[in-house]
Amino acid sequence: MGYLVCDKCKGYYKLEPDESPDDFEEECECGGKLEVVYNLSNVFEEVYCPQCGYKNSGITLFCQECGAYLKMEGKSLMMDSSK
Ligand SMILES: [Zn+2]
Ligand SMILES: [Zn+2]
Repeated sequence: MGYLVCDKCKGYYKLEPDESPDDFEEECECGGKLEVVYNLSNVFEEVYCPQCGYKNSGITLFCQECGAYLKMEGKSLMMDSSK
């Protein structure tokens, strides 16, 4: 299991177990290049909670301290399915 990460906007998409990176375009909609990453902590080293300011390390969607939703920098490709 891995992630596709845009090197420009840092948007990312989490690959499902039955999905392969080959199924996806190599280009992000922002024009950046998508790369396959298996350890997102290499990309997102730390995320500060907007609510309590706690420094969360690695990839997490919710603050490890107060549980607030953490909005990643850039836009998340994951949340981008506007249907
Ligand atoms: Zn992008
Ligand atoms: Zn917090």
